[in-house]
Amino acid sequence: MRPFILSETNWKTIKDQNIELAVLPWGAIEAHNYHLPFATDNIMVERIAAESAQAAWNNGAKLIVLPAIPIGVNTGQLDIKLNINLNPSTQFAILNDVTDVLNRHKIFKFLILNGHGGNDFKQMIRELGPKYPKMFICGCNWYQSFANSDFFESSGGHADEMETSVMQFIAPELVLPLNEAGGGIGKKFRIKALNENWAWAERKWSKVTADTGIGSPHKATPLKGERCFNEIIKKVGNLMTELAGADIDDMYE
Ligand SMILES: [Zn+2]
Repeated sequence: MRPFILSETNWKTIKDQNIELAVLPWGAIEAHNYHLPFATDNIMVERIAAESAQAAWNNGAKLIVLPAIPIGVNTGQLDIKLNINLNPSTQFAILNDVTDVLNRHKIFKFLILNGHGGNDFKQMIRELGPKYPKMFICGCNWYQSFANSDFFESSGGHADEMETSVMQFIAPELVLPLNEAGGGIGKKFRIKALNENWAWAERKWSKVTADTGIGSPHKATPLKGERCFNEIIKKVGNLMTELAGADIDDMYE
């Protein structure tokens, strides 16, 4: 029983526990090439939340990890069988309700730990700010906490070498052999600016990739996954430690 995981702990422990920071992991349920499970984003974000919180707890951080929200924004993938979509407006409603509870119980620091590229909490955090002026709400995309090229030979972003390696390390029983994976070949836009990331449009996933993956998984290994995972835990654990210890009235230097 880990006292910083709400799903595992109990009222006897929680009722007198001083909690500075709440962490909400948020994933998605979606096809990940042929070889990774639909819950890949959930499995990764939950494990990263728990192990980072453990590291922060060991540093003296007073924090709690809330249960992960297992469905994300998949508006560009509704024609892919059983990819389930929560619209951004639904996400905002959930986030608002969770924030209201934290605010009532004077847990004023709140980290949304995101594990899915289609989720974007930035504008929601802006809108929640004036509604809950005592709170400090922060978002983190764990997959941006490290440089992909420090650990992997190829990139892509979806069921690619990174995601496959990390899953081979943390949940090998759920990963099919790589000879069953598709190539993860993703098409680019014809319009140049959309590939340069200074113009943006949602991709129609089934027109971009045949096997639902973007990025080749074929050079993935559990060892690469372990090295990367350890770096993520170090980075996100430090973030949690700093947030838990921060003074909301004195955030700037
Ligand atoms: Zn993913």
